[in-house]
Amino acid sequence: MNIIEKSQSIRTHENKASENLEEFIERINKHNPKTKAFVEFKNDEALQMAEEIDNKITNGEKVGKLAGLVIGIKSNINVEDFHITAASKTLENYIGSYDATVIRRIKAEDGIIVGMTNMDEFAAGSSTETSFHGPTDNPRAPGRIPGGSSGGSAAAVASEMCDLALGSDTGGSIRNPASHCGVMGFKPTYGVVSRQGLLDLAMSFDQIGPFATDTSGIALMLDVIAGEDRRECTTIDWKVPDFAASINDPQDALKGMRLGVVKEFYDVSDKAIVNIIEDRINQMQEAGAEVVELNFDYLELCLPTYYLINYVEFFSATRKYDGRKYGERIEEVCGDEVLRRIHMGSYISQKEYSGKYYKKALQARSLIRKEITGLLKDVDVLVGPTVPKLPHKVGTELEPMEMYAYDILTVIANLAGIPAASTPAGDVNGIPVGMQFQAKPLDDEKIIKLMAAHEALN
Ligand code: GLN
Repeated sequence: MNIIEKSQSIRTHENKASENLEEFIERINKHNPKTKAFVEFKNDEALQMAEEIDNKITNGEKVGKLAGLVIGIKSNINVEDFHITAASKTLENYIGSYDATVIRRIKAEDGIIVGMTNMDEFAAGSSTETSFHGPTDNPRAPGRIPGGSSGGSAAAVASEMCDLALGSDTGGSIRNPASHCGVMGFKPTYGVVSRQGLLDLAMSFDQIGPFATDTSGIALMLDVIAGEDRRECTTIDWKVPDFAASINDPQDALKGMRLGVVKEFYDVSDKAIVNIIEDRINQMQEAGAEVVELNFDYLELCLPTYYLINYVEFFSATRKYDGRKYGERIEEVCGDEVLRRIHMGSYISQKEYSGKYYKKALQARSLIRKEITGLLKDVDVLVGPTVPKLPHKVGTELEPMEMYAYDILTVIANLAGIPAASTPAGDVNGIPVGMQFQAKPLDDEKIIKLMAAHEALN
């Protein structure tokens, strides 16, 4: 039963929302002490809500699209009455005083928010090891990192502690942990989902998006959270497609679809990962897709450009954590990676009067965007690995540049503002490997169709 079928079964009373939730709570109690996917949960409130939904269904009242589904939320998205810590000591005691737009939309559709998930401190990382709550374990590859920064959301879905989860993706933080944990993760086109109520890492890159174990779950959640938000000026006013309906004929989606394969994406990836992706591409080709070989000459420019802009925007976003209005003074309590970004961001901002770094990074970003959207003119989607390497063992000492190297294939979509997703492609000795799809701005639906088509082949 996929997620949409499950939601229908709750609606038709074959399943009960409260029983669905109870199963998850049991698994949370059993596995979360080791996995640390959730950092806070409210079982009683969730149970009460599930019972209300069951009652409504019994009484024949209308319920929302997410009725009875259980959802985990990354700890940098405001949910009223939960601790919104962004996994930092800075906000250890900060309690959400309002619901972010995405949360209001989930609640309006009767989704049950069970708890807040673990993450890298302020979403600045790729391993979920920098959390002030301690690291999350990878449920599909125990002892290894789940990826990051939304590692808790990915692990929660992978270990069946909830139906769906939300993460944020600034340079890969949804797709990277989805890849490492063997689940699906989707980063929408910049502006498709409201960022209102999200604690910024780098505001010109950040997007909120869903995790699920199947495409129907991704589509359903996008149907709920996508769309213009008058409270948030970067959202796009467009006709949101019916994502759930778009996966109805997965067999047809691959016929004539043009898949772009970029040689340079393979060059930076481990051979075992490339082999898996090539097998998948061959399979899609046999099912009617066309493969087009492409080159991208600016891959080396992507990480420096992304991190430079990230440092500057993050530095600016952190100036409100000065310990006066709420929280602690960030520099006094944060971890090494967050401090590094604050120092670098401050330095770069000071040098900016001469346009030494930031202005150049913005120029590089424009170039990357132009080149990538240029490649996408000839094809429907780009297909390749999501992450070039397998996840390391939790606690391995990595240099910052080694950690950043995980992001080389995911930052492109944030620099260009395009939609991108990761879907399970296989495993190397049991360690999951994800495949990334990237498309033109606002072609989010095309990725969903492709995910469903690929899923139907396997
Ligand atoms: N790993 C990247 C970074 O550290 C991306 C993080 C994210 O997407 N939130 O910035």
